[in-house]
Amino acid sequence: MKTWIPDAHNFAYLNWKQVDALPRESTLLVLPTAAIEQHGHHLPLATDTLINDLILGKALALIPEELPIYALPPVCYGKSNEHIGFPGTMSVSAQTFLAVVRDLGASIAASGFNKVVLYNTHGGNSSLVDVLARDLRAEFGLRTFSLFGSPANFEGVSPQERAYGFHAGEIETAFLLHATPSLVDTSAYTSNYIARVENPELLKPEGSSANFAWLTRDIAPSGVMGDPTPATAEHGETWSNEAAARIAQLLVAMYNFQPRHGA
Ligand SMILES: [Zn+2]
Repeated sequence: MKTWIPDAHNFAYLNWKQVDALPRESTLLVLPTAAIEQHGHHLPLATDTLINDLILGKALALIPEELPIYALPPVCYGKSNEHIGFPGTMSVSAQTFLAVVRDLGASIAASGFNKVVLYNTHGGNSSLVDVLARDLRAEFGLRTFSLFGSPANFEGVSPQERAYGFHAGEIETAFLLHATPSLVDTSAYTSNYIARVENPELLKPEGSSANFAWLTRDIAPSGVMGDPTPATAEHGETWSNEAAARIAQLLVAMYNFQPRHGA
């Protein structure tokens, strides 16, 4: 898989003696979690994994080499059963995902490290990442942080796309037009929206106080939830740089974090 992680911040490029020489208490290890799943007719299966690597790589490039903040190789397979039925989707169960990340947490603790970040860019993993962050803290005493998606302002994105551009829409397409243009088939765009902002419904697919559980095949025949048509490489570059700057700031804050007991 293509990577944007700078060599100096790539944990798997170290040998064990170099790992042994790292400051155990302060070193911050970032574990990316993503997916290999259908992204419509126009984006590759690895979209969420590529976006994770792009943004984390750009963020780490902004962090001085001497700060011991390292990206671990990603957990590419995620809980993607919402996309089951679309050829190419490779999903693991919630139990498997929990077990893999828990075991990696055990290895991090066994190597003597204290701080880990779960950086997730696939929505289907999010609730499991929340569970894992607390469990790694409780079971291994790891100072655990979670980090989600691409925190950019997305200037220029319509209210409709902001609300319902869940998957393979304008934002993900723009990121890949910028990062891996040869993997985007711009002649194969399709668009589906699960709901319209101007006609809000009482029961929503997610993010409100009452939601309905959805499978992609029920609501989006092409696999796209959103509209990729307005995506541009320029926006992809601006938004990924913006997200990376924010993530670099957050990683440094995690590196320096001291929990407070009371205010
Ligand atoms: Zn995606």
